Amino acid sequence: MSDWDASVVRPLALEVLGERYRRYRLSDPVAEEAMARSLQRYGQIAPVVVCVHDGSAEVVDGFKRLAAARLLLPRWSTLCVRLLEVDDRAAKAAIYALNRVSRSTHELEEAWIVHALVREDGLSQVEAAALLGRHKSWVCRRLAILERLSPEAKEDLRLGLLSVSVARQVVRLPAGNQTEVLQVTRRDGLNAAEVRGVVDLLLASASREQEEYVLAKPREALQQAHGTTPRTWDPRLSVAGNRVARRLAELLDGLERLEHWLLHRGRAELTPSERGLLTPSFTRLVRDTVVVADVYAAGDITAFHHPLFDRRLRLESWRHAQNQGIAVGKAMCGDATPYDDIPWFWTDQHGVNLQVAGLPADAVRTVVRANAPPSVFTAVHLAKDGSVIGVTAANNPREIRAGQALIKANCPVDPDALLDANIPLQRLIRR
Ligand SMILES: Cc1cc2nc3c(=O)[nH]c(=O)nc-3n(C[C@H](O)[C@H](O)[C@H](O)COP(=O)(O)OP(=O)(O)OC[C@H]3O[C@@H](n4cnc5c(N)ncnc54)[C@H](O)[C@@H]3O)c2cc1C
Repeated sequence: MSDWDASVVRPLALEVLGERYRRYRLSDPVAEEAMARSLQRYGQIAPVVVCVHDGSAEVVDGFKRLAAARLLLPRWSTLCVRLLEVDDRAAKAAIYALNRVSRSTHELEEAWIVHALVREDGLSQVEAAALLGRHKSWVCRRLAILERLSPEAKEDLRLGLLSVSVARQVVRLPAGNQTEVLQVTRRDGLNAAEVRGVVDLLLASASREQEEYVLAKPREALQQAHGTTPRTWDPRLSVAGNRVARRLAELLDGLERLEHWLLHRGRAELTPSERGLLTPSFTRLVRDTVVVADVYAAGDITAFHHPLFDRRLRLESWRHAQNQGIAVGKAMCGDATPYDDIPWFWTDQHGVNLQVAGLPADAVRTVVRANAPPSVFTAVHLAKDGSVIGVTAANNPREIRAGQALIKANCPVDPDALLDANIPLQRLIRR
């Protein structure tokens, strides 16, 4: 070995390739068989990397190729090898570094390497971090996986029965309590996020009874603690389908709570300025719900939130059907703007043109305009705060147009000025 130029790749017999560092890697028989097929078909593309330890060649990178070549014995008896001139510690670091580019080291393998450097070679965590080119916290987390995990959990991890993300949560508990959490995880098929929640609850439990409840009914405990929807699995749906079903359940749960609030306390609980601040969000909720549900509707059939009246409306008039239809058509083309037309209805009955704007039914007071010609009639409907909420007019379309502007202005008007039909409504609009 002493005459080996490190820049030269040379063939070495399989039996002289040592596997001293094999214990830092997980074995994968399926991948080894696939590698054997690849060796047969394409030959050895990349050399195995070795270092010299006590005079013999020890594999640092290429355990899978070595195992595959051994499967092909006696036809395959040598492998091309490249020498890495490093000491024992640097060889361990190289196992990690050579696989880091392809991200092929398992977190458990990294933990074994870190453990060997710190506990066997006596490096401090800071030194190990520097050697591996990682932060000290990275080293600390990997050390914790091996040192704080119970023997049973460690074995499960090695065999691939336990994921590293779950192991990372379990190590937060004393080793004595880890087994029961692992049993619950297996029994109820908990995911890493749920295990994290369960561990949080166990750490916060004040009595054994509380702990037992969390262990017996982990999802119910999580739901009670966080109000989250328990994770369920619908076998009729794919992974993506189940993910969407969970999101929908969360959204519907939130809507139900909001509806409950509207029913029992409602917007009256909010100050007018708060309502103003929240109105854009309500409008957006309506718009986004339509977009997400991919269902559009307009006209008689719809109930919708009207931003000006701040309440849910259903209207039956042809102009509403027409204008809401236009707004919905625009929204379908990506131009979504809040639909806030003032309700307006007209009809001709027995030679009388009758028009109604706004919501007269919501008024607390109605002022009938006096001094108008006999064929003309206008009534102005006022809300609690003195603003105009509706106008009813017979043979007086001009007043209806002005009335719509007054409704939109949404500010109190002088009732005495309203009384006199000689003062056009147009003049009462504050700009
Ligand atoms: C007698 C009457 C008088 C009215 N007078 C006035 C008035 O004077 N002024 C005014 O502003 N408004 C008036 N309206 C209200 C106005 O007509 C409606 O508000 C407006 O037509 C609603 O339009 P729309 O498109 O939402 O619904 P519609 O006009 O009802 O259209 C819905 C359409 O869907 C069809 N349809 C239903 N189910 C199905 C199905 N399963 N599959 C396929 N198609 C289906 C129906 O046949 C219909 O053609 C009046 C309504 C009535 C009934």
